[in-house]
Amino acid sequence: MISTIQQSPKREKFIRDSFWTKVLCAFAYDNPRFYADSLHGADYKSMERLGIFVRDTSEMYAYCPRCKDDTPVDVFHDKNGKTTYWRVCCFPIKRINPKSFRVWQVRVQPMMDLFREQTGIKGAVTEIIPNQVWKWGRRGQLSFVYVRRVTEDDLKSVAAVLKHFPESIFITPRTCYLETLDIVLPNRGIAWDCVSFLDENYTIQFDQEKIKAIIQPEVKMKTESLNRRGSREVKITRLVEELKEHYRLAKDHYYAFDGDILPRPTQEELAKRTGICQGVVSRCLKDKSATVLSTLWKNAENIKAILNS
Ligand SMILES: [Zn+2]
Repeated sequence: MISTIQQSPKREKFIRDSFWTKVLCAFAYDNPRFYADSLHGADYKSMERLGIFVRDTSEMYAYCPRCKDDTPVDVFHDKNGKTTYWRVCCFPIKRINPKSFRVWQVRVQPMMDLFREQTGIKGAVTEIIPNQVWKWGRRGQLSFVYVRRVTEDDLKSVAAVLKHFPESIFITPRTCYLETLDIVLPNRGIAWDCVSFLDENYTIQFDQEKIKAIIQPEVKMKTESLNRRGSREVKITRLVEELKEHYRLAKDHYYAFDGDILPRPTQEELAKRTGICQGVVSRCLKDKSATVLSTLWKNAENIKAILNS
């Protein structure tokens, strides 16, 4: 259900993109669940139709943006018999709409099927590291390996297995895992957060050009030289624009959801929205000469700065 609050097309797109980012992040978790309250106004039903969301029994939990986790809800019956629900983990305590209790299990299988079908990958799926890495079959000469997640902590053990697949293309839900693997292995990789998005109808779309560029390296060379054109200054300007957009949205959000503060976008989200790679985003944010950018970044959850923007 779309929120009853009138949404500008820009805000609608922002919610849609944030929603997809959250779903992709969930694919990497163990037993992932999605709480309606962690993002207002997205079309959750679209994910139910695809089988990616499966309704879980509703529980007395709601998402707290400040704790960034689900948190118990207290029930209060007043003397007129009216029931209200309150999130009490942070001060001030916050009244919760019971709709916010909706929770889904997140299933990755439909996304895998869709991606394999659209990319033409065929063949058996074999688990090679339990619940973490799977051999995914082939497309012509190419073979594919799905890596659900990898962290600095288990990089060594995962890489020890993956080095037996030097020709395989890695598929992962998120770019950060490819960047981690990139340190130790030369394989090419496709991250879903780079090549997929939700269109206006909440249908999952794949950027076939980007996928082709990774699968066919000769096409990749061309896009890389195009990307290299942008200088540091151009990138900083784009990041400043993107953060200013965050301030505008945060202001709307503050008034629309009685004082709720929109979380600052992560560096990964900024990278995705601007098309600048995450390492460069991080370097730009640390750049001492980029004072406007660093001020905007520092104050992105500062309500005074947001309301004065
Ligand atoms: Zn809290």
